[in-house]
Amino acid sequence: MKSLFPSVDGNERDRAQLLQWMEQLLRGLDELKDPDRVFLKGNKDRSGHFYQTLAEDSVIPQQGAPLEDVNVQLLELLKSHPYHTKYFLTNILPMASIPGILGLLTAALVNGNNLWDVYGPAGAEAEVRVVSMMSKLVGYDHRKSGGYTTWGGQGAVFSGLRLAIAKFDPDAIQRGVPGNFYVLASESAHYSALKAVEATGLGRDKLIRVRSNPDNSMNLMDLEEKLERVMAGGGVPVYIVATTGTTDAMGIDNVKGVYDIASAVAERAGTRRPHIHADSALGGFFAMFNQYDFERNPLGLKEHVLDAIRPIRDKMLGLAYADSLCFDFQKLGQTPYVTSLFMVKDASDFTWVDLAPEHTPYVGHRGYGDYHTGYTLECSRMSSSIAMLSALLAFGVEGYQRLLAQFVEVNLAIRSALRDRVPGLEIVNADNPGIITAFRVYPDGKNYADELAGKYTAAEIQEINSMNERLFEVFGRQRDRIFLGDTKQHLMVDTKDGYRVPIYASKVFVISPYTQPEDAEYIAQYIQDQVASVYAYR
Ligand SMILES: *Cc1c(COP(=O)(O)O)cnc(C)c1O
Repeated sequence: MKSLFPSVDGNERDRAQLLQWMEQLLRGLDELKDPDRVFLKGNKDRSGHFYQTLAEDSVIPQQGAPLEDVNVQLLELLKSHPYHTKYFLTNILPMASIPGILGLLTAALVNGNNLWDVYGPAGAEAEVRVVSMMSKLVGYDHRKSGGYTTWGGQGAVFSGLRLAIAKFDPDAIQRGVPGNFYVLASESAHYSALKAVEATGLGRDKLIRVRSNPDNSMNLMDLEEKLERVMAGGGVPVYIVATTGTTDAMGIDNVKGVYDIASAVAERAGTRRPHIHADSALGGFFAMFNQYDFERNPLGLKEHVLDAIRPIRDKMLGLAYADSLCFDFQKLGQTPYVTSLFMVKDASDFTWVDLAPEHTPYVGHRGYGDYHTGYTLECSRMSSSIAMLSALLAFGVEGYQRLLAQFVEVNLAIRSALRDRVPGLEIVNADNPGIITAFRVYPDGKNYADELAGKYTAAEIQEINSMNERLFEVFGRQRDRIFLGDTKQHLMVDTKDGYRVPIYASKVFVISPYTQPEDAEYIAQYIQDQVASVYAYR
């Protein structure tokens, strides 16, 4: 069976054979591409009993198939798959860049285990380098900071909470989690926080939601009030998630403000300050502008683009106040899944949860080997740091700046095209320049300002939401043409009759390197046509 493995001696014939199989895949994919649609070519009906039939019919073949034939089946999977053309405008699902793909391939070629540098020295080396690079970017001291690659922004939110619990009660790793620990996150925070409180054993009731401002950032007065309320009731706030780039609207929490308030409240009570995790999964890469000279503007970015990026950059400077944070390379870092980096300001935090030598009989704690990640939740780890390193080396700070600036410029163009032409449609995250435009349609006589001001009843908002949900369906059915996103909780708003309810919005999420400002008109026209069909339905 060794013909199914790469050569052991580096001979040319085997290399040519491997390249041929790769070529078959690449060519097969290229043949499916259509730059004017979102879906790859090929018919595939995934509706009806599609998955049920698959489950019925699938068995391991008795004899393996030749790789040429397996490749044909792999390519079959790709038919009608979404692809990141200029009309791919949904959520933060990036195209994997070539350096990202090559980095992941490099990791796979030696298949080192990032658990221990004896098994995965390449991954360890890349991980240390990437953590150092990103530490310097956000203003952490690279001699004190630490980090590791993990399973998503979700994994980072979880890892931060795990550390927070251990810091507040070092006995918790032995005896379990105290029943009075609390976590605070804004209403606009990612649901990662909800899963983390459940999975760490705190329970979902221990997640306290702080109100979001109209710009989707955390309301700091409410944070202070809720911290005090938790403590007055005998609770211990151990963890605050400050979202720096909300998933739906790119609202950015004031991390320094969160830090100041948490410090002040803790000081007044004579307790430890809660661990602050900056959930920078979405927005963190805007820190690439932390050192950008906005006056000299060396990249020659347009004035309105600079104006949009500057306030984002100013907020990203706050990341340095976080005890931990995340860089989701699989989002704006342009690398394939799963490539997420969890970082801590102070690497000694890891000692709270590290395993002792007697717990790890098979690995680490030898005279040989210097890098053993006994503090991660995973045991074996993929060396995704190699893909991160590859992307960082290939893009460089300027490459990321240019790409993000392009996304922002396209987003601004789409905003202005929408404002000009679609009556009844309002942009509901106008205060958050960035790469997302969230919009909501209103029936005659209703508008966003009144909605925010609490002038509508819950029933009225329900009706507006229903109208927007119909629009989601219209967009969703045609996502092979233009693929937009949507959310059922853009914001929570107060109603006239005393409720606090979510409002729905559709989203344009600029994430493809192929979308250009010139495409904005066509995209806006498409949106206008679909909105018109929803009005006609009424
Ligand atoms: C995407 C996202 C997450 C989850 O990240 P994954 O990489 O999908 O696990 C968490 N927080 C925020 C703010 C996000 O945007």
